[in-house]
Amino acid sequence: MSVYTPIIGLEVHVELKTASKMFCTCSADYFGKKPNTHTCPVCLGLPGALPVPNKKALDSCIMIALALNCKINKFSKFDRKNYFYADLPKGYQISQYDLPFGENGWIELQNKKRVRIRRVHMEEDTAKLTHAQHENLTLIDFNRSGVPLVEIVTEPDFHDARSVKEYLQKLQEIVRYLDVSNADMEKGDMRLEPNISLTNDPKVLPLYKVEVKNINSFRFVEKAINYELERQKKILEKGKMPVQETRGYNEAKNLTVSQRIKEEAHDYRYFPEPDIPPVVYTDEEISTLKLSLPELRDSKKIRFLKEYALPEYDSEILTRQKETADFFEATVKIGKEQNLSPKQIANAIINKQVDLSVLSPQKAADLIAEKGQKAEIDEKQLAVLIKETLAKNPKAVADYQKGKETVIMYLVGQVMRGLGTKADALAIKEKLISELKKDNGRNNT
Ligand code: ZN
Ligand code: MN
Repeated sequence: MSVYTPIIGLEVHVELKTASKMFCTCSADYFGKKPNTHTCPVCLGLPGALPVPNKKALDSCIMIALALNCKINKFSKFDRKNYFYADLPKGYQISQYDLPFGENGWIELQNKKRVRIRRVHMEEDTAKLTHAQHENLTLIDFNRSGVPLVEIVTEPDFHDARSVKEYLQKLQEIVRYLDVSNADMEKGDMRLEPNISLTNDPKVLPLYKVEVKNINSFRFVEKAINYELERQKKILEKGKMPVQETRGYNEAKNLTVSQRIKEEAHDYRYFPEPDIPPVVYTDEEISTLKLSLPELRDSKKIRFLKEYALPEYDSEILTRQKETADFFEATVKIGKEQNLSPKQIANAIINKQVDLSVLSPQKAADLIAEKGQKAEIDEKQLAVLIKETLAKNPKAVADYQKGKETVIMYLVGQVMRGLGTKADALAIKEKLISELKKDNGRNNT
């Protein structure tokens, strides 16, 4: 019996969060909006309407390509990808064919293995179809039509579902760090299409591949791949070859179903988009975009270890979201004056003692300092201070013991002055009272 090696590649579509759509001025913020309210002749594909590329979207696409270590094509262009389906009223999608914005990049995984990125290109999203159940009816919402979409294609470098998931998490982190997409899986901001095959000779690419569509979570992509590997193995073990096709993933039943026999590139009859001139970026423009890239998570993680002497665990959690990392660093800066250590601040953030969504770094530093002082009050120091205070204030003690209990707050004030204002008055009051009771007892003997 042969041993088969999985060969897996990945196509990911990422919706950008630009204000307007890719080729018109309609709002791209369509999620949850009334169907067909964000439309115009351009994104409805009406005859004669002319597309005008969104500069912000082009820049964002190049930023993604740069962050993925791609070579940038300074001379680029749009092409028409022709196919006939109801989600695309023009009969073609404006995409990129032979001159994508980015090519030949990579993402490094935890085991230091690089997943090669074949291309990063810009295209437009299609309308959203809803197949009404129990009715022979399909509804079309054009609000999504023409929203900027970046497609990221890897080489078939994966051999298991787990590393696909790791790659996807990393890709999601990167586009979020770049602040070009929310990459919210539930809202369809990031859509995943693995292509999967098996080979008994890893040096030769298999003669078929199966593309799985409609996957909207990292967990499901793992499940779909594992299901597909099992299915294909059974076919190969019978001495047959799986059909090259597109399959859909049914998450309820955890299986894939044949949708259509896979098109080849030539079926799409790509040709240059005649309504949009080629896009040219200068070296200066590209280096400006490169300089504008934020520090990405991998480098930030390493810097946090060195610069703040944090344990790996802390660095891992603090950098998960750029906002958290930024908040941490701002608080460290402010906290220096209050003698707060980066580790103290990291602990407070990780243990959720400060709520980043409502506090400013200044408020957070104050809060951590306050808590820190309260916690740091040494019990022995407090006991000594209480004894001293009582010894220094015989009149107040005598008054208290005669029944003038209000005098206690004067004594609390004296102890607090010795400790610093951040001390917990209530705790000190309790300790004073118990000490005074002891004294009283002694006096009576
Ligand atoms: Zn429009
Ligand atoms: Mn695409």
